[in-house]
Amino acid sequence: MIDQARSRFEALKAGGLLPSPQGVALAVLELTQRSDANLHTLTHLVQTDPAMAGRILRYANAVHGGSLRHIASLPHAIVFLGLFRVRQIALSFSLIDHYRAGACAAFDYLGYWTASLATGIAAQRVAAQAQCPPEESFTCGLLSGVGRLALATVFPVEYDALLRRNLSDGELRAAETNELGIDHAELSAALLRDWGLPEIFHEAVRYHEAPADAPFDAGSRAQALTAALHFAARVGDLLNLDDTRRWERVPSLYHAAARIGLEDHEVPPLVQQVVEQWHDWGRELRLPTREISDIKALLSDSPPVAQDGAPTALVIVPMRVALVIREPSLMRRLATTLGARGLVCLRATDHAAGLRLLADNQIDLMMVELPDSGESSARMLRELRAADGARQAYCLALIPRAAEAEVARLMLAGAADYLLLDYTDASLLARLNTAQRVLALQGAVRAERESAIRSSGEWARDNRRLLRQALTDPLTRLYNRRYGLDRLAQEWSFATHSATPLAVLMLDIDHFKQVNDLRGHDIGDRVLTQMARVVQRVCRKDDVVFRFGGEEFCVVAPNTGLQDALLLGERIVEAARRATFGEEGLRFHVTLSVGVAARDAGDADVDAMLARADRALYAAKHAGRDRVMVARGGDKAT
Ligand code: GH3
Ligand code: MG
Ligand code: MG
Repeated sequence: MIDQARSRFEALKAGGLLPSPQGVALAVLELTQRSDANLHTLTHLVQTDPAMAGRILRYANAVHGGSLRHIASLPHAIVFLGLFRVRQIALSFSLIDHYRAGACAAFDYLGYWTASLATGIAAQRVAAQAQCPPEESFTCGLLSGVGRLALATVFPVEYDALLRRNLSDGELRAAETNELGIDHAELSAALLRDWGLPEIFHEAVRYHEAPADAPFDAGSRAQALTAALHFAARVGDLLNLDDTRRWERVPSLYHAAARIGLEDHEVPPLVQQVVEQWHDWGRELRLPTREISDIKALLSDSPPVAQDGAPTALVIVPMRVALVIREPSLMRRLATTLGARGLVCLRATDHAAGLRLLADNQIDLMMVELPDSGESSARMLRELRAADGARQAYCLALIPRAAEAEVARLMLAGAADYLLLDYTDASLLARLNTAQRVLALQGAVRAERESAIRSSGEWARDNRRLLRQALTDPLTRLYNRRYGLDRLAQEWSFATHSATPLAVLMLDIDHFKQVNDLRGHDIGDRVLTQMARVVQRVCRKDDVVFRFGGEEFCVVAPNTGLQDALLLGERIVEAARRATFGEEGLRFHVTLSVGVAARDAGDADVDAMLARADRALYAAKHAGRDRVMVARGGDKAT
């Protein structure tokens, strides 16, 4: 964080107006910052707020829904989530409850939370791509825009004026810095930091709106989380926009998806799941979530029909025309003029027939006779526009001259243009000309968009491959050291906060140098790959096996105490001893030595545990190889 932003944040904080958790959530925050905090006192505290207790229980069940047995009691939920996550959840829910309205008129407080909720849920759904546990992703997404709320809260009048200028995202942030001394992205990050969320979160939040500007290494967790948040925020945005503004955001959603390795066909089902959970949680938190009946339509809406733009060359497209006309002589006259120009006309003589016709036929141009521009005419027009066959149609309203004064109502109901009943042929042809031009432009926009989405699918596959590559050891196809150590740190943090066991095993092939020397480097390579498979087969799904370097491997075993880790080590040594290595016709035996350490209160940090495992490995080598040794707490290998 740059110094200017930091000192600005401190000043705002001293002002006492920044959003902050209240009530039990505040007490939870304070409790978890004390060194004597434990799950027991936390449970008692949360129980004093039944609404909070209910939400935490519900949340615990939602995040691992299906994969675990139902969590029925608050103490279980709290143990399951751990101190650290309960704190984040209490914080989030408290903010939603207490900042539902405020003095900044142009800031839509409920809309802000509704979109943030969708962002949180989407972030949780792409937790795997974020390389982040789902519980963590949720909070991170939910609070990713909290700097906006903070600016609206601290500067209601100034921020109101700023928002009314309708600036683009980049312009808004520049104006915030100029006029308020800090932009919302910096402020979001500073708040998250202040609330004690891990650094990787506030860094990701700081950059997620413009991930291309982020200073993170390709393939790093920070970068993955930033890109995942970016996608999640696009989903949150999209669900909250009205129909006309949504269309233009769809390609950027697919782009953001591709950035995290999601292909286009994976996006709609994912958004569908987000919408379902969004409605659920929206009810729980009393936030207004829109009904979205058709996700496919949401993600592939037609663009709004463009009104007069710059003139372009006229492209003649064969138009399919529907005439919904009551008056027989008008119908005849129109059909004749259009037919003479080679246009196929489908006819309906009343509203109901019009709806039936449009249910079965895709049309390009619709001409509707309306008696006036009153509310019931507008309703009829809307119904016709909503029919399946008319989704992409250009709609021309035919009205009496008296209705012209209020024709705006019909335009809002979906008419692109109007024609008076006493039209001249010249004015009809001029309207047809415009219709053709607009339809052609619309077709071009659609084609461009479809090709953007298609190519983002290819890009997604590339990204996924690159992401995988960045995390994989090319020889053995195991995770590489960088990913493995990252995961180890993550599991360490979870284990220390939730007081669950964690073990690590260091493995080293015995006399591997001799394999190279006697049989050649290529066979040596082959042995490494074969050994990787042997180890992987023995380990459980939740264990993380990675190549530590050279002929050394490492296993991170979450939720595993010392005794179980020792058993796992023995199973690995035994499996290696029984396997044969090399190639057809030239099989030989290779053994492993293993050092085991489990997380211990005496370990200052994760490196201390790893160093103990390494010392145990050294002891195993010293004692004759082909065996497991355990590091006891206090650092002695036995
Ligand atoms: P110890 O039982 O004490 O572990 O003896 P060692 O021979 O296994 O240990 P040492 O550290 O002396 O030798 C490890 C060898 O592993 C040296 C190095 O050339 C070889 N090695 C490291 N990486 C690779 C690799 O990717 N492919 C091959 N073929 N050999 C490798
Ligand atoms: Mg070695
Ligand atoms: Mg070795």
